[in-house]
Amino acid sequence: MTAAEVITETGRDFIRDIVADDRDAGRYKKIITRFPPEPNGYLHIGHAKSICLNFGIAQEFGGQCNLRFDDTNPAKEEQVYIDSIKTDVHWLGFDWGDNLHYASDYFEQLYEWAEHLVKNGLAYVDDQSQDEIRLNRGTLTAPGINSPFRDRNVVENLDLFHRMRAGEFEAGARVLRAKIDMAAGNINLRDPVLYRIVHAHHPRTGTKWHIYPSYDFAHGQSDAIEGITHSICTLEFEDHRPLYDWFIQHLPVPSQPHQYEFARLNLTYTVLSKRVLTELVRGGHVSGWDDPRMPTLAGLRRRGVPPEALREFVRRIGVAKANSVVDVAMLEHAIREVLNTSAMRRMAVLRPLKVVIENYPEGQVEELEAVNHPDNADAGTRTVRFSREIYVERDDFMENPPKKFFRLSPGREVRLRYAYFITCREAVKDGSGEVVELRCTYDPATRGGNAPDGRKIKSTIHWVSARHALQAEVRLYDHLFSKPDPNDVPEGHDYKENLNPNSLAVVSAAQLEPSLKSAKPGDRFQFERLGYFCVDSRDSPPGAPIFNRTVTLRDTWAKIEKKTEKKPEKKAGGKS
Ligand code: ATP
Ligand code: MG
Repeated sequence: MTAAEVITETGRDFIRDIVADDRDAGRYKKIITRFPPEPNGYLHIGHAKSICLNFGIAQEFGGQCNLRFDDTNPAKEEQVYIDSIKTDVHWLGFDWGDNLHYASDYFEQLYEWAEHLVKNGLAYVDDQSQDEIRLNRGTLTAPGINSPFRDRNVVENLDLFHRMRAGEFEAGARVLRAKIDMAAGNINLRDPVLYRIVHAHHPRTGTKWHIYPSYDFAHGQSDAIEGITHSICTLEFEDHRPLYDWFIQHLPVPSQPHQYEFARLNLTYTVLSKRVLTELVRGGHVSGWDDPRMPTLAGLRRRGVPPEALREFVRRIGVAKANSVVDVAMLEHAIREVLNTSAMRRMAVLRPLKVVIENYPEGQVEELEAVNHPDNADAGTRTVRFSREIYVERDDFMENPPKKFFRLSPGREVRLRYAYFITCREAVKDGSGEVVELRCTYDPATRGGNAPDGRKIKSTIHWVSARHALQAEVRLYDHLFSKPDPNDVPEGHDYKENLNPNSLAVVSAAQLEPSLKSAKPGDRFQFERLGYFCVDSRDSPPGAPIFNRTVTLRDTWAKIEKKTEKKPEKKAGGKS
């Protein structure tokens, strides 16, 4: 993707309006944003919204977007997450160039600033336990209670803080707190914790530190160090903004960043919380962070979702100030749109039923021409081989069809895509009465799919030649949760009860067009009439591709849109 393409993909929203205003007023030489993940899990599609926003703004305004790891909690952070986050940001189509930073690079500076607050009587060491601190913080209606250690003198505070750093105390024995106002209406201002004692190995600083800054103390100051002009985060940080500003005002920081909040992405049938996703991985409810049912970028990629589709989806949902839930069908719609233009067509039979064409010569093989893409002649054609025995989809036959079923049934003629008309003569059953084979005849005059006498055929079905087919495993995915709101459970129950038991169906012996044998990990196709499929990049042995179904062809979002077009007063779901 080039920068120019990104610019045409973006829209306008209240944050871009603010940035444009600042640019027009000449408030900044350069617009600088950042994407600040904590490396304690893999990125998910919610992060994609934030990435597209931050990197997108930098591109559109000729600015810069930093990738900054918010690595302030070594107990939960790991190098694998750092690596995966870099891979995923690149895959989504964005590049931080030289602007890669870590909050841990600023530990020394942050420590100095903490000392600065202590020296100015604006921070103190508190010996209360975590529980005591929580209890004494008060509630939304009741003010907090001052800590008995709040009035420690500067010398004692400095001494204790130094010794905290030196590792003299047990984890949790003391904290450093800002001295603001225990009666503040905003609980974030009731003497927030600035430093905790943690004895853990940090992926970057090793065992150098025994104290780590809190998110609130690290975040704004890191922004200031990097000269961030617009610090864009999700709405849950709105109440932290007064604290963000308090630090910026009370510390000798090199710049004055501003925080702006937008609504996070929520999706139906999906959880977007790293804590929950971690639990699904650790509990073995999915096969890993890149399980194709996961809303992680690694999972979506493995499932076959193109990064363009994610960018387009994010552009369409927009950026708003109020939280909402987006219909996952809208994401699937964007995926289908991209794949419809880019994916080559192939034929594959997922649940094979053998068809013997009785009047087709034994041993004869014909090569028929099939188009690779119906709307793109440049995609060319390929040959598919036809022979006396083929597989069709089990669902494409019914012994006693209802009125509107026009596919195979005894006596019924159908068109085989790119091949001939065949007529079903007999369904052969096994001892239990199950249909195991169809006996059919074909009309040699209909080669290529048209009858010289112009007779109309109501149905065209796909097929593969039995002796040429590639047998393969195909994995069919459905939503990971069976309820639109996965957290919708009765009191005392767990969201995991809403896991969809049918979210994965494995078809172990699908029959595919043999050209698919050379498909490479990550290659995407449309299997005609079935959906979009992608070669699994983790489990496929060479020459034996396993396919993941990305999405079916049924577009529920297009239906929703159509309905709402008719009733314009009702707005479609998925606004954000
Ligand atoms: P989670 O809530 O899933 O645990 P997080 O917000 O703690 O994630 P961070 O690594 O701190 O994860 O997130 C990095 C950035 O991505 C933050 O600026 C955060 O606001 C943003 N972000 C996280 N989740 C979403 C979401 N669902 N929609 C939009 N932005 C998000
Ligand atoms: Mg966070």
